[in-house]
Amino acid sequence: MEEKWIKKRVEDFPVQPNLIDYNQEYKTFSWEEAASNFDGLPSGGLNIAYEAIDRHANGLLADKTALLWLGQNGERKVYSFAKMKKQSAKVANLLKSLGLSKGDRVFTLAPRLPELYISVIGILKNQNVICPLFSQFGPEPILQRLKRGDAKVLLTTKKLFKKKITPILEKLPQLRYILLLDANEHESEKILSFSRLMDESSDKFEIPYTQAEDMSVLHFTSGTTGMPKGVVHVHKAVYTHWMSGKYVLDLHQDDIYWCTADPGWVTGTSYGIITPWIHGVTNIVDEGEFDAARWYKILQDEKVTVWYTAPTAIRRLMRIDSEPTKEFNLSALRLIQSVGEPLNPEAVIWGKEKLNLPIHDNWWQTETGGIMIANLISQTIRPGSMGRPLPGIEAAIVQQNDDGTITEITQPNKEGDLALKIGFPSIFRAYLHAQEKYDKCFIGDWYISGDLAYKDEDGYFWFVGRADDIIKTSGHMVGPFEVESILMEHPAVAEAGVIGKPDEMIGQLVKAFVSLKSGYEPSDELKRELIGFGRKKLGVAVAPKEIEFQENLPKTRSGKIMRRLLKAREMGLPEGDISTLED
Ligand code: ATP
Ligand code: MG
Repeated sequence: MEEKWIKKRVEDFPVQPNLIDYNQEYKTFSWEEAASNFDGLPSGGLNIAYEAIDRHANGLLADKTALLWLGQNGERKVYSFAKMKKQSAKVANLLKSLGLSKGDRVFTLAPRLPELYISVIGILKNQNVICPLFSQFGPEPILQRLKRGDAKVLLTTKKLFKKKITPILEKLPQLRYILLLDANEHESEKILSFSRLMDESSDKFEIPYTQAEDMSVLHFTSGTTGMPKGVVHVHKAVYTHWMSGKYVLDLHQDDIYWCTADPGWVTGTSYGIITPWIHGVTNIVDEGEFDAARWYKILQDEKVTVWYTAPTAIRRLMRIDSEPTKEFNLSALRLIQSVGEPLNPEAVIWGKEKLNLPIHDNWWQTETGGIMIANLISQTIRPGSMGRPLPGIEAAIVQQNDDGTITEITQPNKEGDLALKIGFPSIFRAYLHAQEKYDKCFIGDWYISGDLAYKDEDGYFWFVGRADDIIKTSGHMVGPFEVESILMEHPAVAEAGVIGKPDEMIGQLVKAFVSLKSGYEPSDELKRELIGFGRKKLGVAVAPKEIEFQENLPKTRSGKIMRRLLKAREMGLPEGDISTLED
């Protein structure tokens, strides 16, 4: 495999990376020292909004662009740190005047509008908890989340209100106000115009004393494996954002940074809002949806230097037969990072060949609040590996024993549960209304992630699959990722989702659902070819025995293949919670 590794040379970097000696940095890093990079509130304590916006607005970066917003139809809006400070102060004042106090939850349900980003900061300033929802949810999932999250205020648009909130409004007695971002006038005592309230509010707000342990963000998980969980985070998580912004995104103050995730998912909040601003970096927000030409054009026109995206988007770009670097000038780009799903080695290498930059995979979860394991810009990439734990993060492969204890597996390349040593600042503090479920995630000093992985001789972590998705076939344990990655090496395959189908003889049979690249048609012949291809590469025991073509695989709205749904459909079982299923 070593021939596939992508080696890095310091002299090739246009900007000196923040981390060059991994081992040294890992050894010497301390969270206390990380904390010293923060100002803390003038009134004492720690508040994300202050660290992200106000301290820059009060200093040398006041006039620098914090937010560059690109409208769907070509509009551009620019917000400096100073302007963000004032605008978010107005939001904080208006929430205060509505009677909201510390800990009250404010939900957002909006397209990627500038007001959404300003509001997130304002909500945090008033010590309210921000809970961003994905704007494409239907009424039922919205109702579930607003109820479970005890929403006091909802920020949304006229259109979304009419379509999605009116049908459920009666069932939300605890919801005090709805603020319409695009209404010029108040509609009732409860349904108010955001801009009217903004006009009436002062642009000065002093953030009250906030404890590092105060709740900041409530995020629902993607619902890939079941009912989405409400995950509680605190202001202190910002230390992890700073650390990962420095090492993984390699942020330098001159960077132009673009994270394609919607704030409805944790990546869009932690890395699409907080992290770039903590580092005083210009953050691009695109209102538009995925479109290959549009995306390449943004990378080109805005001279994006650091780009954070997801495997689903990369696979969509890979589907198109194009030569992006010939059609667009992408020379400003120096780093591409990806998260959310396993990143197939094929995709890493595609980046190197087609974009002149390999894609760097990193791993984390809503629960961890920030990136935990990553391929760093200056370090050798082993395509298919998630990389190594970040400074300040201790990760291990463990085995759960029958007596409820765990044992660390020190032997390399042996699969087990991926676990993280607790003590890092951004580990979640609760599952909303599910204490027992929360407690079950921890054994001794370790958080058990629910993902299976192994660690190689040199400390690189390799994803095997979610514990729930692991296939047991003829006495072997097969991770779907391995099989999917091999299938993707075949020129006809755009995407693959692999499940274990119950089988009397062998326990579970490896079955692959495959979508094809443009120019390829489903046929029995191609099926046989793919089965043969799998056997050659994976061996008979692991290779898929059944192939089914599907034009599109079922995915969460955050772009993850929903293997549990493929399985339920295959077996004719109820589909379970499908609130996050893509249309
Ligand atoms: P739910 O918990 O509701 O089933 P989810 O786990 O998909 O949803 P998230 O917290 O958004 O919700 O996703 C975290 C999970 O995504 C991880 O546990 C892992 O399974 C997967 N994941 C994220 N990044 C990677 C990666 N780089 N490689 C492999 N898997 C990844
Ligand atoms: Mg999960």
